[in-house]
Amino acid sequence: MRTFDEFFLPEGWERMDRSDLPEMFRDMETEGELVTGVRSLQDLIRKATGQGEEGAALEDAGLAEVHPFPFLALVGMERVQQALILAVINPRVGGVLLLGPTGVGKTTAVRSLAGVLPQVPRSLCYYGCLPEDIEEGGLEAVCPTCAEKHQRGEPLAVMEPARLLELPYPIQPEEVWGTLDERAARKGRHRLRRGLLGLADRQVLFVDEITRYPAAVQEAVIEAGSQGHYTLSRGGLTAMYRSQFLLVATLNPQRGRLPFPMLDRFGMRVVVQPVTAAEERALLWERVQAWRRSPRAFVQAYEESTQALRRDIQEARDRLARVRVPEATLQATARLMARLGLPSLRADLALLEAARAYAAAEGRETVTPEDVRAVAPFVLPLRHPEEVEAYFTTGQVPEAPWAQKVEKILYNGGVP
Ligand SMILES: [Zn+2]
Repeated sequence: MRTFDEFFLPEGWERMDRSDLPEMFRDMETEGELVTGVRSLQDLIRKATGQGEEGAALEDAGLAEVHPFPFLALVGMERVQQALILAVINPRVGGVLLLGPTGVGKTTAVRSLAGVLPQVPRSLCYYGCLPEDIEEGGLEAVCPTCAEKHQRGEPLAVMEPARLLELPYPIQPEEVWGTLDERAARKGRHRLRRGLLGLADRQVLFVDEITRYPAAVQEAVIEAGSQGHYTLSRGGLTAMYRSQFLLVATLNPQRGRLPFPMLDRFGMRVVVQPVTAAEERALLWERVQAWRRSPRAFVQAYEESTQALRRDIQEARDRLARVRVPEATLQATARLMARLGLPSLRADLALLEAARAYAAAEGRETVTPEDVRAVAPFVLPLRHPEEVEAYFTTGQVPEAPWAQKVEKILYNGGVP
């Protein structure tokens, strides 16, 4: 086990001294954004999540709404809603990719998630130390200041609702990864500050139209999200930052595509089709009009049911740590995956983690083959290169030959 210093304070990195801080901040807990000069990015993020000052975000109308469309007011998006909720309950599913043409409501659906996110710990420390670091790695796994605080019985983090951070477009590389801290440099100190990948730790990172970003940015968010950490090297300094965020991305197949290995890294994928039923279209139109006319009143009308959903999600998330996959379910899942012959093992992991989230949402602590069957449609499509090729060519997901057989393979020992 590497100690905190080996992990986070490699050669050349200088530990921050409280006396560096302006007078007014000295009594505050060391807040990353205050001492690292990312105040403006933080503000940007607040706007993106609708948590900024009223009206302030209107200038950035392309970024996000002050009153996001209520999650429960979405029409004809049940599969998207289910996938997003499962991923929020268990971010270990490995990200959600929503595929579909422009105008089907993918972006609105993701932004509406901001209203139902559960509580997550926010570190009070510059280095992002969390209580769970001590649970996992002992006092050595946090910075010396936090180790002392822990021994004095003081909190290392506060709980607050997770935030939905939207990756700005366009974005500069230093905003993504981080860079040398100019504020510190002006005082003759040599230090790094983390970028959005690090700031998104424990939050939801939304990448709208992922294919419009440079390939390096696409790779960085997918890689950092699945690894849970990333390394930044600038000007002879190197630092590792935690980046355990839930990645939610949208992709319009008419505008671009992701290479298969990157697509495969998304644990869940939903192909979103336009709402076609006449009544649903009418209902959706009415709701969008009502929301545009009076966003505050419209959001208010859904407030009670939104709060109830948020509580359910929080409960499921709290239950998740106790949810186990028994041997029989594991065997049935392994049988299924062997039959499908997928090129990577990522789908196996995503399937089991999604099934755990499903069981937790259902109020259970044991995962059954039925849970695996329930989440299979979110995990298994677009896992074969030929299937992906067909989707990008025709816009339709071909029905996989296994689709009808999942149940039988899961329950009958692999004899469909
Ligand atoms: Zn610390």
